[in-house]
Parts: sequence; structure tokens; C-alpha cells
Amino acid sequence: MVDARDGTVESEELMAKYEKQGGEVAREKKEKKGGNKKRKKKRKDRQGEDGGIGEYRLVGYEELPSYMKENEFIRRYYRSQWPISHAFLSLFSWHNETINVWTHLLGFLLFLGLTVKHLMDMPQVADLLGHLSWSISAKEAENASLNQGSFFSMALPLVTLDRFAANSGDAPLDTAPRWPFLVFLAGSMLCLLTSSLCHLLCCHSRRLNFLLVRLDYAGIAVMIAASFFPPISYAFLCAPRWGVLYLSAISALAVLAVLSLLAPEATPGSRRAFRAMVFCALGLSGIVPAVHIAAVNWAEARRAKTMAWEAAMGLSYLVGTGFYVSRVPERWRPGKFDVAGHSHQIFHVFVLAGAAAHYVAALLFMEWRDKVGCWANTEHIGG
Ligand SMILES: [Zn+2]
Repeated sequence: MVDARDGTVESEELMAKYEKQGGEVAREKKEKKGGNKKRKKKRKDRQGEDGGIGEYRLVGYEELPSYMKENEFIRRYYRSQWPISHAFLSLFSWHNETINVWTHLLGFLLFLGLTVKHLMDMPQVADLLGHLSWSISAKEAENASLNQGSFFSMALPLVTLDRFAANSGDAPLDTAPRWPFLVFLAGSMLCLLTSSLCHLLCCHSRRLNFLLVRLDYAGIAVMIAASFFPPISYAFLCAPRWGVLYLSAISALAVLAVLSLLAPEATPGSRRAFRAMVFCALGLSGIVPAVHIAAVNWAEARRAKTMAWEAAMGLSYLVGTGFYVSRVPERWRPGKFDVAGHSHQIFHVFVLAGAAAHYVAALLFMEWRDKVGCWANTEHIGG
């Protein structure tokens, strides 16, 4: 007993000495090592479960910083505070934004292909590029401080005025000008590309998130405004005052929409309904020129077909916006549609469908104007 007690005392003393001489450091190291192992194991477990790139794992909704908490019905597979390089690489891995990025990236590539096709078909492409570059560079010098969305929206009426002025004489046109069609294609590409970039890189930091989300809003407003250019330009080609009036009005509305959406309080989740309302109002403002066009072209055989495509566009945007606002279906089963099938992906598909329907309608408008010209149909074109 005594020996044992002595032994115990001795070993306690030794232990105390050992601890004093650096045992704590050793233990700390051991604990740290153990902790790292545990963390690595945990990370590995989580990666196996939820994925990620390198040491950056995908996280759950609760772990997100407040600026990324946009949709509480999407529970997992978030990238949070990732470096830009990892965010770019995540284009090729699965997370809850993969389909959002790809739907609009593929849409962008589709519209890029269509733009190249139309440019190659145009004999007057050099003339058009001359007009565009002149108008844009003049406007750029004036408005160097304006943001991109406002810049494009405000530059477009200038191009319009320039071209309408050139076409307002009595000389008949060989074919209708192609620039309104290209304005629509460019606006669509800008919207689809900014949307893709936003979904891909918004996970990087609060600062970049703030910038890209607003660029995305600006892109949507520019796309809506740009969509009006082919129908209004072709319908009122021979009554340019109406064309300039409508296109200036819609461009001014687009600038207002962008300004209202740039407000700092317009954070991703909090004003979803307000944003949807602003974009719907912008789209619905097209009803006035649409009724005007339909009324003055009542006898035109292609009117029904064109209107049907435009109605398909309107319906696509409305249904898509319905999904965007309601957050169906993930609201019904939170966590079940994190990677595939959630409302924003459905919204993206409807936006693409709407843009495609409008592309067909715009093409019909252009072909109609090519056929009737400006001289044979003056009584049916609103002038
Ligand atoms: Zn989106």
C-alpha cells in the first residue's frame, strides 16, 4: 500500500513535472492532431454526403452568411465564401446553383449562335456596326459614370433616333434594317450572361454578391426593354415618330426599374415580390404599343400568328414569375429540390422559352417588313 501510495505520489510528481516541461504543449499538439483528424473525417464525411471542391465543402442553409439566406426551402448544397477560382470551377460540379448557371449559359450560347447566323446573313452589317459604334461611343463619353444597365438602356434610343432619321425619307428600303433585331439578341445575351455569372460567382463574398445581383437585375430590365425594339421598330418603321416615342418611353421605364432595383435594401430575398412587380410592369407597358400595332394592322394576315407567339412569350414570363415568387415546389417539400427541380430553375426555363417565342415573333415582324417595305403599306403601319 505504502509502496503503491509512494509509487502513486511519485508518478503524480513525475506527471506534474512532465506537464510543466512541455507536456501541455505535447497534449495540445495531440489534441490538435486529433481535432484535425476529426475535422478532416467530418469534412470527408460531409464531402461524401454533400460534395465540394478541395477543402471547400458544400454547407447547409443555417451555416450561410445572412446575405446568402435567400430561400429557406433550399436546405443544402450551398457554396459559401468560396474563392473565385473554386467558384468558377464549380461550373463543372454539382451544387444547388449548377442547373441555374447552365440553363442560362446554354441560353446565352444559343442566342450567340443566332446572332452570328444573322450577322453573317446581313449584307449591311458593316453599315450597322458603323451606326452602333458611333452612337455608343458618343453616349459613352457623355455617360462614363453611369452603370452598365443604365448605359445600354439610355444608349438605345439614340441608336433609334439615328436610324429612324435615316429612314424617314421617301426612298424605299430594300430590306428592313436589322439593327432592332440585333438589339433584342444583344439584350437577351446580356441578361442570360449576367444571370449565369451571378449564379456562378455570388457565393464568393458579400461585395461581389451585392454587385452581381444588381447587374443581374439590370440585365433583366435591359432584356425586357430590348425585346420591344423589333416589334415597335418594324411596325412603325414608316411612322418613326411613334417608334421613337414608344422606344424612348420603354427605355426610360427600364432605367427607372434599374434605379429602383439598385437600392441597397433590395437584398436577394427580402423584396422578391417587389422585383417581380417592377419587371411585370415593365413588360406590361408593352400593351399600349401592342394594341396600337394590332389595331393598325388589323387586315394583316400574319397578325394572328405573330400575336400568338407574343402571347406565348407573355404567358411564359408570367408563369415563370409565378414560380419565382411562390417558390413552388420546394416550399411544399423543403430540402427535396435542393439540386434539381426548384422554382428558380423552372423560372429560368420559362425565361428561355419566353425569349425563344419572342425571337420567332420578332423574326416574323422582320420578314413581314422585308416583304411589304415602307412604300406599299403606308395606310396599315400606323402613320
Ligand atoms: Zn436566376
